[in-house]
Amino acid sequence: MSIEGKLLKYKTLIEEKNAVLVAVSKNHPAEKVKIAYDAGQRIFGENLVQELVEKANLLPTDIQWHLIGHLQTNKVKYIAPFIQLIHSVDSLKLLKEINKQALKNDRVIDCLLQIYIADEDTKYGLGFDEVIEILRSPEFESLKNIRICGVMGMATNGVSNTQIGIEFNELKVFFDGLKISYFKNQPHFNIISMGMSSDFEIALAEGSNMVRIGSSIFGER
Ligand SMILES: *Cc1c(COP(=O)(O)O)cnc(C)c1O
Repeated sequence: MSIEGKLLKYKTLIEEKNAVLVAVSKNHPAEKVKIAYDAGQRIFGENLVQELVEKANLLPTDIQWHLIGHLQTNKVKYIAPFIQLIHSVDSLKLLKEINKQALKNDRVIDCLLQIYIADEDTKYGLGFDEVIEILRSPEFESLKNIRICGVMGMATNGVSNTQIGIEFNELKVFFDGLKISYFKNQPHFNIISMGMSSDFEIALAEGSNMVRIGSSIFGER
C-alpha cells in the first residue's frame, strides 16, 4: 500500500476512537513527509532535534511538529521558536530550560511529562514519585511559559499484550489522578500519548488519545 493509503487507513482507525495521530517521520526523508502532508496529515513527530529542524525548514509552515525523543537541554533553543508539543519532558531541569527559551520567543510551549512505565531500564522517563515532586516544587510553580498538557509513555518491548495493557492502564490511572489532584480546572491537561505501530490498538483500548505511528505508515527505517 502507498504512504497515502496507509496514512488514511491509520488516521481513520485512530480518529474513530477520538484520538489524534502523530505521524512519526524519523529516519525518513522530507519527500515522504510531503506525501503524507499532501494526503492531509499535519502533525508529525521526530525524535532528533537536528533532523526535526532540517525537515521543518524544507516543509510547509503549517505542519505541527512534535518532539517525541529525548531532549538535551542545550538543544531546546533550536526548536523553541516553533515546536508545537514536546512529548518527552523527563526532568525539572529540562522544563526550566524549555520555559527559558519559550520566554525568549515570547510564547508558551506545550509539554507532556514522559512517564516511565516499561519493565526495562533502557527508556527515558520520570517515575510516578518524581512527577509528584516536580509538580509540588515551588520552582515548577514559577514556570509561566510552559504548559503541561498531559503524559506520554512507552510500554515494554516484546512482552505479551496483557502486560502491555497493564502498563498502559497504569499510565491512564496515573493521568486521571494527576488531573484530579494537580490540574483540576485546567482543560488543556487532556493528552495521554501512548501507543505506536505495534501496540496502538491496546493503547487506545486503555484510554490513549494520542498515538505515535511511524513504521506502519512510512515503512521500516
Ligand atoms: C519511533 C518512535 C515511535 C514510532 O514507532 P513505530 O514503531 O515506528 O510506530 C513512537 N514513539 C517514539 C517515542 C518513538 O521514538
